[in-house]
Amino acid sequence: MTPSVTQLHNMTVAQLAKALHAKQASAVEVATAFLARTGGNPHHAFLDIDSEVTLAQAQASDARIAAGTGGCLEGVPIAHKDVFVTRDFATTAGSKMLSGYRSPFDATVVDRLRSAGMVTLGKLNCDEFAMGSSNENSAYGAVTNPWDTSRIPGGSSGGSAAAVAARLTPAATGTDTGGSIRQPASFCGITGIKPTYGRASRYGMIAYASSLDQAGPMAQTAEDCALLLSAMSGADLDRDSTSLDVPNENFSAKLNDSLKGLRVGIPQEFFGDGLAADVRSAIDAALQVLEAKGAKLVPITLPRTELAIPVYYIIAPAEASSNLSRFDGVKFGHRATDYTDLVSMYKRTRAEGFGEEVKRRIMTGAYVLSHGYYDAYYLQAQKIRRMIADDFQRAFADCDVIAGPVAPTVAWKLGRSASDQKDASLADYLADIFTLPASLAGLPGMSVPVGFGEGGMPVGMQLMGNYLQEARLLNVAHQFQLATDHHLQKPEGI
Ligand code: GLN
Repeated sequence: MTPSVTQLHNMTVAQLAKALHAKQASAVEVATAFLARTGGNPHHAFLDIDSEVTLAQAQASDARIAAGTGGCLEGVPIAHKDVFVTRDFATTAGSKMLSGYRSPFDATVVDRLRSAGMVTLGKLNCDEFAMGSSNENSAYGAVTNPWDTSRIPGGSSGGSAAAVAARLTPAATGTDTGGSIRQPASFCGITGIKPTYGRASRYGMIAYASSLDQAGPMAQTAEDCALLLSAMSGADLDRDSTSLDVPNENFSAKLNDSLKGLRVGIPQEFFGDGLAADVRSAIDAALQVLEAKGAKLVPITLPRTELAIPVYYIIAPAEASSNLSRFDGVKFGHRATDYTDLVSMYKRTRAEGFGEEVKRRIMTGAYVLSHGYYDAYYLQAQKIRRMIADDFQRAFADCDVIAGPVAPTVAWKLGRSASDQKDASLADYLADIFTLPASLAGLPGMSVPVGFGEGGMPVGMQLMGNYLQEARLLNVAHQFQLATDHHLQKPEGI
């Protein structure tokens, strides 16, 4: 039986893959159904759409399905955060600096998902160069949260999260440097995973802070994230020397493992005064579900949790100041037209091309790396980063996974930063407290919808695992989703 158009856009990646494979719907029908939904660009989630490109890819998928040569995700649509470079769509990283930029190649992650048969719907809005927690730093305008359009969708992968929540795409890629997959997933009521640092290739992913940046999938369910992560990750040593030399894994293999005897670490520092009561009660209820499934809650401590904020906001800007030096008006992207000599060309290009927050971070980064301050800031931050990673290893002696909130509150109102620029950035930095520790340690972390809080806004629970334990996290999340239906809730009217 052919699924109706409304059924199509509400289907998960797993359901769509099955329907396409069984020829209950064609890739062109599926792509057409989603393209129709992106008309008018709801929530301002997309930065580039090209229906001709998408439909051509869908036609090629249909041909492969007919020939029996389709990949495991053949014909299933996906959209990419605009920090992944793509040949067929423009890539801007949410910055004016790259306005109209077209890459001569596809990022490895994009390439792998294409090889699995996925059809690209377009590119998704994000904070400029992935710097931000609200998506309001995009040079192309903010994204609205489909659950309440007066609120932010989270960031920096805000377009990705909003697009999945509004069912404009069944799946999206995101990148997470300090929480940018987990926090928007939490704020938009979807599921997202940031794998272990090095699991997914960074080749063709525009660099923000290279020692932290990691790609991952965002979708409705943990089952979908497992399918997507299996397809997008894997060693890419010739092109990304930090990609991990480990065999490809099938992340769906352990989804149905029992949670009996699973030790879930509860870090006391994640449940302090800063945690809003509505978020806390949704997390508490979720932990009871895990207990009912046979898991044991174990109190643990991550004593340097608070230090993750200053450490991250030294290291990330330091790396950003170096990475962003390539945008100088010479090689690609924007170039100022009105200048007198080479230095004035550099200065004007960068003054015009970068937004406020990016400039703030370049300056912070250059400062903490400068002679006389390097030891006091950068070196010190690196030492504490190692201690934070060691704290996790001590904790994992007593537990298999760690659970806690993703963010201290639900999604806040749009415009907080416009009212007081300086304090608002600081408030955004502080709200990253629960996602930064796993980023600094390079550990996998995910966000799973666990209910609703203030204003009916979604709440996500964070699950963190030891290195390469993504399959375990996805197993816990999947078992939780079998017992609950928070991940199936949709914003009104969808
Ligand atoms: N909010 C953090 C920042 O602004 C994290 C962003 C990210 O993970 N890309 O840097």
